[in-house]
Amino acid sequence: MPQTSEKSRPAAPSKPVVAPYIQEKRYCKPGEWIEGLPPLYIVTPTYPRAEQLPELTRFAQTLMNVPNVVWIVSEDAPQSTQAIVDYLKECGLKTVYLRVQMPAKYQKVKNKPRGVANRLAGLDWIRANAKDGVLYFADDDNTYDIRLFEQMRWTRGVSMFPVGLVTKLGVSTPIVKDGKVVGFYDGWIAKRKFPIDMAGFAVNVQYFLQRPNATMPFKVGYEEDGFVISLGIKPAEIEPLAYNCTKIWVWHTQTKKNNPATPVVQNNATKGTNLDIIKNLIWKGNGNEAETTHKNKGVS
Ligand code: UDP
Ligand code: MN
Repeated sequence: MPQTSEKSRPAAPSKPVVAPYIQEKRYCKPGEWIEGLPPLYIVTPTYPRAEQLPELTRFAQTLMNVPNVVWIVSEDAPQSTQAIVDYLKECGLKTVYLRVQMPAKYQKVKNKPRGVANRLAGLDWIRANAKDGVLYFADDDNTYDIRLFEQMRWTRGVSMFPVGLVTKLGVSTPIVKDGKVVGFYDGWIAKRKFPIDMAGFAVNVQYFLQRPNATMPFKVGYEEDGFVISLGIKPAEIEPLAYNCTKIWVWHTQTKKNNPATPVVQNNATKGTNLDIIKNLIWKGNGNEAETTHKNKGVS
């Protein structure tokens, strides 16, 4: 078991933190950095599709309201998507762009471990570059209340909180009694020790760095469970956030798939107009359309 150094971690506030800048100003500047506030390393797996830039734009604009964020956008693609690389440079946030591809053996199977290779690349980056703060896996298509980020910032080990719109139960959450996690309420328990959603937990960076073997398995449905198990945390040690898991501050929203666009017709009405530019901005597909438009939904 790796050693933990309790002293070097930021002290957990005695009551839930609502940061003054949220109460007073309701916003901060994009990319704002406040000295002394633990950084958040937010790992977002993403992949090329018609909805990619809209999803990332929406999430970026959520993160513009949160200070001390390093946004690690990790793309699963054979080549970088230029529009994404450009947007990350322009958006004003502190961003890191990574690119990897899902290993070929998983690409072939029907039920793929989505986002694992790229989340692992994010973890490697954190191991190489981060010293403190908190890490969080934030899928590109979820919806986040910024108050969640202010609470997870003070995570000392592993914190957990409810995620809305998960399974037919409508929520996946730890069950909390007298301030302690005593179980899990989730529509798909299966063989999971921690039946939670990917968006339902955050990890202290020092705690993670002290566990060099912590990793995420390429195992559909068991990605988050495997990762939390690999951290060696006991259920009783989990820090319940969102006021003892009484608030839903993140939702597993899913965006409708859009088909690739029909190319802009080239005629006198379009040539020599703004459509010469727009035609390069619309999503014309990447050759995997059968796969992306009829996505097989996983268990999570
Ligand atoms: N993702 C990825 N590669 C893929 C499919 C998905 O990197 O081939 C990312 C996706 O952008 C999202 C996360 O992995 O951030 C989870 O995927 P998705 O939202 O499709 O799964 P769901 O939430 O429906 O289980
Ligand atoms: Mn999703």
